[in-house]
Amino acid sequence: MSLAVVGSVALDTVDTPAGKNEEGLGGAATFASIAASNYTDVSLVGVVGTDFPPEHIQLLESKGIDLDGLERAEGKTFRWTGHYHDDINLRDTLDTQLNVFEHFHPKLPEAARNADYLFLGNIHPALQMEVLEQSSSKFVALDTMNLWIDITKDDLLKVLGKIDALIINDEEVFELTGERNLVKGARLIQKMGPRIVAPKKGEHGCLLFVDDRVFSAPALPMEQVADPTGAGDTFAGGFMGYIAHQGATDFETLRRAVIHGSVLASFTCEKFGVDRLAEVGQKEIEARYAEFVELASF
Ligand code: AMP
Repeated sequence: MSLAVVGSVALDTVDTPAGKNEEGLGGAATFASIAASNYTDVSLVGVVGTDFPPEHIQLLESKGIDLDGLERAEGKTFRWTGHYHDDINLRDTLDTQLNVFEHFHPKLPEAARNADYLFLGNIHPALQMEVLEQSSSKFVALDTMNLWIDITKDDLLKVLGKIDALIINDEEVFELTGERNLVKGARLIQKMGPRIVAPKKGEHGCLLFVDDRVFSAPALPMEQVADPTGAGDTFAGGFMGYIAHQGATDFETLRRAVIHGSVLASFTCEKFGVDRLAEVGQKEIEARYAEFVELASF
């Protein structure tokens, strides 16, 4: 089974208490694709500019990611700049330059159109809908952000009515539903469409609502977090990659998928950008999965 991933491919500049990383490879689709490539065939759909460094293309290709859907447009690549506070859970976006992303309309090549699984990364919900209309996938997960909840809620509600799973921050659950209680908020979102809602709680793990059932996944207690940028997208990529590999979406599979997502996200946080995520292999993933099992059993 294969997975199509749609979203931003970026050059990220971040500073955190651990240091600074200038114009590193980033973007939601990048983190999600690399994470998912540990489990399944991935087709990435996005856009970069003519300034996009060839070594980043080589890295994505070295992971076996199909880049037929990665458009190379005239102009500059999307750029994002973020600053993390001493409390690394707090982040300010300092700058967003849409550049080639501004006029982007995703065009799915055949492999992406026919992928059984689809992850719609955080882009304008009208674009997410354009992708859905081209796709014949049987299971769709979506990520979004406060910006779209604020300014394009109607478009977001339309697309929510057509997807299977929403991966979202706890704060965004509140913004979308007006409900501070995560359980009530998730139940309200299920009524908007997705039968699966996975609210992430940052360093406190993740909940998973599936129909009328719920699972609580821990996050790995980490002594040192270098850069949490992309952890959410990595989580989504690990989650969807595992599901695509299993070819199933029953509750047990989804529970394990949440742990796989959390495993990959914990690696992302260890170094800047994709540096750590890109170097992990099966052995390390399995070892960390075992740590999570140990952490969650009593
Ligand atoms: P996260 O840390 O999971 O929120 O994801 C951060 C990633 O999202 C970075 O690599 C950014 O390049 C990307 N990003 C930030 N803002 C946007 C945006 N408005 N649209 C698409 N991608 C974005």
